[in-house]
This record gives sequence, structure tokens and C-alpha cells, in this order.
Amino acid sequence: MSRSVSIFGATGSIGQSTLDLIRRDRGAYRIVALTGGRNVAQLAADAREFSAEIAVTCFDDCLPALREALSGTGIAVAAGAEALIEAADRPADWTMSAIVGAAGLAPGFHALRHGRTLALANKESLVTAGPLLMAEARAHGARILPVDSEHSAVFQALVGEDMAAVERVIITASGGALRDWPLERLAQATVADACAHPNWDMGQRITIDSASMFNKALELIETREFFGIAPDKIDTVIHPQSIVHALVGFNDGALMAHLGAPDMRHAIGYALHWPERRDLPVERIDLAKLATLEFRAADEARFPALALARQVMATGGGAGAVFNAAKEVALDHFIAGRLRFTDMAGLVEATLDAMSREIRLTDAMDSLETVLQTDHLTRVRAEDLANSRQEQTA
Ligand code: NDP
Repeated sequence: MSRSVSIFGATGSIGQSTLDLIRRDRGAYRIVALTGGRNVAQLAADAREFSAEIAVTCFDDCLPALREALSGTGIAVAAGAEALIEAADRPADWTMSAIVGAAGLAPGFHALRHGRTLALANKESLVTAGPLLMAEARAHGARILPVDSEHSAVFQALVGEDMAAVERVIITASGGALRDWPLERLAQATVADACAHPNWDMGQRITIDSASMFNKALELIETREFFGIAPDKIDTVIHPQSIVHALVGFNDGALMAHLGAPDMRHAIGYALHWPERRDLPVERIDLAKLATLEFRAADEARFPALALARQVMATGGGAGAVFNAAKEVALDHFIAGRLRFTDMAGLVEATLDAMSREIRLTDAMDSLETVLQTDHLTRVRAEDLANSRQEQTA
């Protein structure tokens, strides 16, 4: 019997890699929902190719083009945030959460409410609402499988292990496109500079987050939330080759490393076939050819996002939601050329400070609505702060 699959963020980098794997074993899957944003042509092409039940764009103004592109196919079309939720409520055995940003949170929640398997690439879900999301999965007998390569690596290293024996978890970081730039040049980095990632081919936003290490900051928090590991046991190291994705240290001194080519189809495929391992079309590593694997400490002066992540983990409560929303606004301003690369962390820090005077950040987020409201309030505050900074420098 074929397995039913929905993909949220199907037109993006993770979504396309997921479809690539499904395409190779076409008969084994039935596609329920595919969602995208502005890339209507890709969404329509994929919906046709995979005979999806429904195609959803998150943008209302993209609906006429989507409707036109799929007319006569019998594939349902819809647009907007509510339509994403309705698509998540359609029965599917396996759901990929690969929307970028906090917009991915609500559809993932709904998929969990139906007791499904949620393959989670959208790390923002755990950063903004980790305890709620994990509780939702438990309450509905649903399962969350990590898709972020580092977290998939930790997950794999932990198979059959006792969590009480875990001393530390180390997630590696490539250091991003600017890792070898002199510190004093970083302020001049453009979007194109930050997007020239040496190893991974990813969406624009995560690639820039990789250069600023905000991506790694999100992943430290994601590690804490997914595995329930104390923040002082979680660390990151710079590993320029991106071959070792994570290491788990145990109380007998053993350090289990996960190695693999920098290709997201490994982690996606692992989550797709779990608990089995199946053949995947990823490059096999030739250790002799590789010769060198380097590791060095991540400099927190160069990457202030890491220190902010530590602060967020220590605060708990709503700090993750504030951190993520402020980071998304800072990134929007950098992409739009209104904020320097090195000023993103300052804006996030200032927003965390401002929000800590408006709400009690340590209070637990008790519902999805509270998280979304905190996210919204933070965006308004971060926009204000960004605009007033711009006026001061104009
Ligand atoms: P992309 O930017 O490539 O794709 C994002 C997807 O989300 C697209 O389908 C896009 O539509 C859609 N989208 C954009 N904005 C919205 C919105 N407001 N509401 C609903 N959908 C929206 O991102 P990636 O695939 O790189 O990343 C997706 C997620 O996976 C992120 O959370 C990222 O951190 C995580 N991740 C990504 C990795 C990677 O290798 N790319 C590795 C590990 C984690 P459209 O393009 O049509 O506008």
C-alpha cells in the first residue's frame, strides 16, 4: 500500500530534495498536499507530476496564477495561512515541515494533532515553541523526526543509548561563507557574500544565517528542546569540511561521531524511511581522499549569536520565540540592505532587552496562540528598533 505524504515548503530547497527522493520510488507514495509561496510555477509543476490532492500557496495574491496553472487537472488549489492549516488537517502518514521561519509552526502543530509522523526541518518550530510542540506530539501519539543534519546525526548516534549516559553533544558548524574573513571586514559583507556557502546548497535565509551563525544559535536551542539535554552539555565547533555533522560524548569517554557528505537527502531519507535504513543517492565518503578533518573553537566575539542563544536557553519561556522573531526581522533588514551584517546581532539583543521589559520572558508559553502573539509583538518591536536605528544613521 502506498504511503501518503504532505510536504509543507515543497518549492524550497528541503522540499525539492524530499520530492527528489520520492520521485525515485514513485509508486510507494501518494501525495496529499504540496505547499509553497511565490514559486507558483514550481508548485504547479510538482502538483501535476505527483498528482497531489491539493496545492496551497501561502500568499493570497498567488492564488489566481496557481488556479490557472492547475486548471483542468482536478487538483484542488487554495491560498493563505488558513488554507495551510486545512492542508495540514488532511490525513497523511508522513508530513515534511519545511516552510522557512515561524510560519512553519502552525501547520506542524496541526499535523501532530492527527498523530502523524512529522519530519521536522523547520527548526524555528522548536526554537519558538519547543516544549509545547513536544507535549503536543506526546499527547497525540505523534512522532517528530529531526531533519536538520546535525540533529539527525545526534538522533542516529543515540539509537539504543541511555540518555542518562550522555555527557555532551557537539554539533558542528561549517562557519558559513564568511568564516575566513577578517573580523574588521565583516561589517561590509553583502547578501551575495553571505550567500556564497562553501559546502551546503540551501535556501537563501538559512545560508545567511549560517554565515552569521544565527543558524547554529537556533540549532543549539533546537538540540536542547528536541533531546531535552541541559544547555551546558551542548556545544558547537567549527568544522570547515562539513563531513562530521555531530558528536555525542558518553560517560565512559566514548565520542560517537556521525559522518556523511553534505547532502540533505541523507537526513531527509533517514526520516522518510525510519526506522529502516534504505539505499540513498548520496555520495559515499572516501576517507583517504578527504585526508583532513579540522575542528576549531567557535569564537563568540566573532559570532555573538552564539552567546545570545546561551542567554535564551538560560531564560527559557518565551525567550526562544522572541529570539527567533527578532532574528527574522534582522535578516529581512539585512537582505533589504537596511542593516549591516554585523548589526543583526545587536538588533536581536536590543529586541530581547525591550521585550523583557514588556512581557515576563521566563513565563512558559502555554498555547500556540501565546507563541504566535509573542512572535507578532516581537516583530513590531524589532521593526520599530530597526527603523529608529536607521533614522539615527541616516
Ligand atoms: P527555502 O527558502 O528554500 O524554502 C522555503 C519554503 O517555504 C518554500 O517552499 C517557500 O515558498 C515557503 N515559504 C516561504 N515563506 C513562507 C511563508 N511565509 N509561509 C509559508 N511558506 C513559505 O528554505 P529551505 O528549504 O532552505 O529551509 C526550509 C526549512 O528547513 C527552514 O526552517 C530551514 O532552517 C530548515 N533547514 C534547511 C536546510 C537546507 O539545507 N536548506 C538544512 C536544515 C534545516 P516559495 O519558495 O515558493 O516562495
